[in-house]
Amino acid sequence: MRLSQMLFVTLREDPAEAEIPSHKLLLRAGYIRRIGSGIYAYLPLMWRVLKKVSQIVREEMDATGAQECLLPQLQPADLWRESGRWDTYTQAEGIMFALTDRRDTELGLGPTHEEVITTIAKDMIRSYRQLPTHLYQIQTKFRDEIRPRFGLMRGREFIMKDGYSFHTNEESLKKTYQDMAQAYSNMLRRSGLQFRAVDADSGAIGGSGSQEFMVLAEAGEDEVLYTEDGQYAANLEKAVSIPTDAETSPFASFEKRETPGTETIEKLCKFLKCSPTQVVKNVLYQAVYDSGITVLVLVSIRGDQDVNQVKLLNELTKLAVNYQGKTILFLTVPDAEAQQKWATKSLPLGYIAPDVADDYIVGSKEVNSKFLRLVDRTAVDLTNFVTGSNESGYHVVGANWGKEFPLPSLAVDVRKAKKGDRAIHNPEQTLQTARGIEVGHIFQLGTKYSEAMGATYTNEQGEEMPFVMGCYGVGVSRLAQSAVEQSYDKDGIIWPVAIAPYHAIISIPNISDAQQVEVAEKLYAELNQSGIETLLDDRDERAGVKFKDADLIGIPYRIVTGRSLKLGKVEVVERATHKSQEIPIDEVNSTLKQWIETALK
Ligand code: ATP
Ligand code: MG
Repeated sequence: MRLSQMLFVTLREDPAEAEIPSHKLLLRAGYIRRIGSGIYAYLPLMWRVLKKVSQIVREEMDATGAQECLLPQLQPADLWRESGRWDTYTQAEGIMFALTDRRDTELGLGPTHEEVITTIAKDMIRSYRQLPTHLYQIQTKFRDEIRPRFGLMRGREFIMKDGYSFHTNEESLKKTYQDMAQAYSNMLRRSGLQFRAVDADSGAIGGSGSQEFMVLAEAGEDEVLYTEDGQYAANLEKAVSIPTDAETSPFASFEKRETPGTETIEKLCKFLKCSPTQVVKNVLYQAVYDSGITVLVLVSIRGDQDVNQVKLLNELTKLAVNYQGKTILFLTVPDAEAQQKWATKSLPLGYIAPDVADDYIVGSKEVNSKFLRLVDRTAVDLTNFVTGSNESGYHVVGANWGKEFPLPSLAVDVRKAKKGDRAIHNPEQTLQTARGIEVGHIFQLGTKYSEAMGATYTNEQGEEMPFVMGCYGVGVSRLAQSAVEQSYDKDGIIWPVAIAPYHAIISIPNISDAQQVEVAEKLYAELNQSGIETLLDDRDERAGVKFKDADLIGIPYRIVTGRSLKLGKVEVVERATHKSQEIPIDEVNSTLKQWIETALK
């Protein structure tokens, strides 16, 4: 491609709308253009990058025996009602764009494709002989994200590879899951990324496993906890650890104390001169189940610990049957407005005790009349602890479970693991943190969708069995941008060779110099012919501008037909290192070929 003929516009200034380096660079270098919130055009250079990433993904998927297909993006609401996700996706989370057609039929734009694929399997797979099978597609997904940001990182329209596998049993699923873990590692390694596979939350589905593939970068929205020995890595939502030990309580006898202005643990501990590990704090949540029932949840947890809301959500989902539901629509800390809907009088916030009376709640058909009381494991073994008194401005000290307060019958692990905690596999290892960008997620689904949608096959004994399923997603457009987030310098993007839009760019310093043009044209034809994807900067611009642009767009090798021509050579500059060497014209092709081959290994 000749730059003189390409739609090629670079910006000198950082665009105001962009916060992180990769977003700024992709805009400045003319790879993407913002069309609306979370909506981007992929311009010709970007599209080449995306095609390369897709091709790597495709090759790795095909190598596992998965089959490529293309599923509809317009999805009938009825399919989502069958799986029970229509209301959650269009209302509770509101992530799905929903619309009504001219016949008043409701449709959604696909944020993911479990429903569509399960319907296909239900229709087409009759017998265990057709299993296992694995279909995947590479396609634009639509999600009405709450906070679209960082360009392609969190778009409302983005490219994803999603795959779904069907099995007769867990063992077969696990094998495909392992193959996918390998395929995903291969994809990321080949794309030139530094990444870590981490344990992830598999949600209330309870499936036996889920891993995320995190590209390590400061701008990442996710936090990863890991140990130096390489034996443990998990995302923050899922991470488990051994908390620090509690200090022995100085309060030997039970007493109520006036503790004015101590709504926070920090103020309380300062006032009482005690450690937060001697405090039981009681955190109030409000859960709304899909049955429409609201439940007030009181979590008692050690004062130095925080509640991990994902873990809490999972625990509460297990209790859904008690409230005639299947899932939870909302889980929030109720603010004053929310409390008005069910509180009989104002709650002593900051001073709540584990036994706060149920008569704070106006019970009704929609609101469960009793607090659901949970205790986190960190609070179970505490003795002589400090906690609220249910009266503003007062706490109690020297309290014990079984004496002053009944121990909640449900003990759970809902604490947030944090940096510095000891690791479970080896308490000598402490957890470290890093930031990451989630680019892939693999998931053992089990029978959640097949059971909900009645998707079955006939087993060897002639019985109807629900499919055991797995699903595997990788964000193609997010992956491409995260490569930039990991690889740039003050001059611009440094693409890994494997996904660079072009391998090389030939810059003609002076287009009115006939010899410069002639050599450049010759090399341009020759390199492209031999498979080295090459751009020709034949614009009528100053050499400095051309070099700056070449650096900004991040093409791995720049060839300059300049001064060294009189020695029969051209200058070749490696983008990543700015290292320059003079290479005889007739050796450029073979040299570059070799460099590219080495880089792609
Ligand atoms: P996140 O927690 O970042 O919202 P997710 O858990 O919703 O991600 P999945 O549903 O597992 O993501 O989708 C699979 C992959 O698709 C993700 O690993 C990510 O790479 C990509 N992805 C998800 N949402 C977006 C988005 N809004 N923009 C770009 N890529 C996305
Ligand atoms: Mg998401």
